[in-house]
Amino acid sequence: MFSYEEIKTIRNHFPSLNNQDNHRIYFDNAATTQKPVQVINAINKYYCHLNSNVNRSFNLLDQWTNNDLELSRTNMKDFIHAKYRDEIIFTSGTTESINLIAFCLSNMINKSDDIIISHSEHHSNIIPWQVLIQNKNAHLKVIPVNSEGELNLIVLKQLITKNTKLISISHVTNTFGIINPIQKLIQTAHKYKALVLIDGSQAISHISIDVQKLDCDFYVFSIHKMYGPTGLGILYGKQKVLDKFTPYQGGGGMIEQVTFNQTIFSGLPFKLEAGTPNIAGIIGTNKALTFLGNYSMIQIKHYENKLIQYAIQMLMNIHGIQIYYKNSKRTQMLSFNIEKIHYFDLGQLLNNYGIAVRTGTHCAQPIMDYLNINGTIRLSFALYNTMAEIDIFYHYLIKCLYILSYDQKHSTFKVNKFKRIRINT
Ligand code: PMP
Repeated sequence: MFSYEEIKTIRNHFPSLNNQDNHRIYFDNAATTQKPVQVINAINKYYCHLNSNVNRSFNLLDQWTNNDLELSRTNMKDFIHAKYRDEIIFTSGTTESINLIAFCLSNMINKSDDIIISHSEHHSNIIPWQVLIQNKNAHLKVIPVNSEGELNLIVLKQLITKNTKLISISHVTNTFGIINPIQKLIQTAHKYKALVLIDGSQAISHISIDVQKLDCDFYVFSIHKMYGPTGLGILYGKQKVLDKFTPYQGGGGMIEQVTFNQTIFSGLPFKLEAGTPNIAGIIGTNKALTFLGNYSMIQIKHYENKLIQYAIQMLMNIHGIQIYYKNSKRTQMLSFNIEKIHYFDLGQLLNNYGIAVRTGTHCAQPIMDYLNINGTIRLSFALYNTMAEIDIFYHYLIKCLYILSYDQKHSTFKVNKFKRIRINT
């Protein structure tokens, strides 16, 4: 658990949290996290002092930049406990990582093969597979969720067959923050020789990841959700699987030799990284890893869990609230609706008070349809959020509910019951 002083120090690393013009409570960390000054400075330094391409000119600047970029790859390998550096591919984000895998797997998928996803996937883990199966006349199967909002593994056992080529599942759902039982899923999949892709976008900065222990074939995520820059993602793939991939894109930096008759591609990771990469972003990523490395994941998980439990405890005082899967195993996120209140109105009003939450379907319309709702209000925390912020949020939430004609008589909330621990007023 972090102390009051430690959280204050952590917050001081984030210029946007201390920007008086922009003073707000930021509870939309599942969409993207704020960036620490170390990341911003590294990007600034690159553009001010280095600014060269990589693996092109072989001048001194190019070499320095290249060293920085490859250091980032090595540190990322260590961060997710991959076996080889070559298994770390830089992409533009989770979305590109999944599309890249879908493209490269397409020549391994035949008519009547199937791909399995779950009911609670982000659109970027649905649409690439839909496109693939339509092109191949293959099938898309969907694992439903159980009463805890987790994958229903009993149904998985009925869906999976020897024709299942891939199961693609989120580690943590981006709608409700539910932690899926991926270890068991991976074991089941491998019995049928199906590959497993884990979308770790909502897990990467909250849970310690060991891709070797998990034994997943792919693990993908976006750097902007782990205190790093936007426009950058990671595709981890087992070397023996990635070796079989033919390049997704052709261009500079991924070849040994090109003639008009044929091209000889480089090996991993370069054959999957055509064109000039997001150099500044990759250098910034290294600093995000250093920042996260200052804390243990257990410590982060523990602290964020305290925040989420505190928020749930407070919200439960509101009559007519539904917190989705409130007792399930979750990370730092929760989604709710309040009877007779439209999530959009509430989100807009909270925004007027400087509180940023996310409203809507969270790019996961199928799970909303399944629950027969149009959307939710989502709170998602990061390690710089505080209980004092939750106090303030709750105070304004009640105010907004009054404005939206919430029926006060039925309410059991007691704002003063909670001790305020303001650190950033
Ligand atoms: N998968 C999940 C679970 C996500 O939460 C997100 C981002 N909301 C994505 C995929 C897509 O990430 P990006 O837009 O950064 O590619």
